[in-house]
Amino acid sequence: MNRLYNFCAGPAALPEAVLFKAQNELLDWQQRGLSVMEMSHRSAEFVSIAETAEADLRELMGISEDYAVLFLQGGATQQFSAVPLNLLNGKSRANYVNTGQWSKKAIQEAGRYCDVNVVASSENDHFSSIPAFNSWEVDEEAAYLHYTPNETIGGVEFFWTPEVSMPLVADMSSTILSRPIEVDKFGVIYAGAQKNIGPSGLTIVIVRKDLLGHAESMTPAMLNYQVHADAGSMSNTPPAYGWYMAGLVFQWIKQAGGLTAIAEMNQRKANKLYHFIDTSDFYANPVELASRSSMNVPFTLADDALDKAFLTQSEAAGLLNLKGHRSVGGMRASIYNAVSEDAVDALLAFMADFAQRNG
Ligand SMILES: *Cc1c(COP(=O)(O)O)cnc(C)c1O
Repeated sequence: MNRLYNFCAGPAALPEAVLFKAQNELLDWQQRGLSVMEMSHRSAEFVSIAETAEADLRELMGISEDYAVLFLQGGATQQFSAVPLNLLNGKSRANYVNTGQWSKKAIQEAGRYCDVNVVASSENDHFSSIPAFNSWEVDEEAAYLHYTPNETIGGVEFFWTPEVSMPLVADMSSTILSRPIEVDKFGVIYAGAQKNIGPSGLTIVIVRKDLLGHAESMTPAMLNYQVHADAGSMSNTPPAYGWYMAGLVFQWIKQAGGLTAIAEMNQRKANKLYHFIDTSDFYANPVELASRSSMNVPFTLADDALDKAFLTQSEAAGLLNLKGHRSVGGMRASIYNAVSEDAVDALLAFMADFAQRNG
């Protein structure tokens, strides 16, 4: 076996301890004679796996009983439709902040259901900053405000939470569990699992219970939060194996000391990488200092004619998936929770060597 360092933006690296545990239990889960993949989701065994995972997530994030936690399919992208369908509640307008490619997709999909009021946009700035809150033009009558706390492609992250008078909705796909957040400030938090939670195919939605029960009447049942909340996410077959894997990841985070300890480690990793880039005259990162993502670090080389060599040689050095998103080019190192400090050190050593040979 030869596991390499994986900087993929998603599906992303999983903690090795979690993979070993899953491997160990793959054929026979806790002497029950079958795999988790083969269990009825209504069996006592799976229900205990599901309940433990939810309880661990609630403990890690400090999610109160005022919120339902849903374990769904469909990806974060499906939530781009589910959010307006569940939250418009008879209104015809919603507020959206546009800070990057994922914001844009959410805005585009919401536009099928309502008027979108774009309260602020950094598009003219090539999405390299976050518009100052005092410049936002929030429609106070709109049903909710949606934003993307971490733009996975542009590498732009909010380190503050907007304070608004309507339900606050956040696509936390690439920042959830990277540090503590104040869940009570949000109406809905959603995240595709394949960055910091587990394998793809699972989507977590954390929804304040008073927002349930107001879905538009034509809402497909499988997009209706109330339907899933009433059924404990088992209205139909849930993404059972992903739910189990997420549970193993939650236990791994608890053992690592919870989100405060995880956040310290993530900050060390990100600081090292940005410091190296900033002090080099070969690499550059375009994002304003205060909004640099601690999860996704895009960077460019002094000459983009060297991109191909960088990718070939980094891969040969055991550093996988450093290619930037096709929409922005350059490189991107995603340094989620499961990417170790050793992985970042190995990346820095390679980058220094490459710059020396080509600078
Ligand atoms: C990855 C990602 C998505 C898309 O998630 P899917 O599960 O593939 O639908 C949406 N938003 C953000 C911020 C992401 O990082």
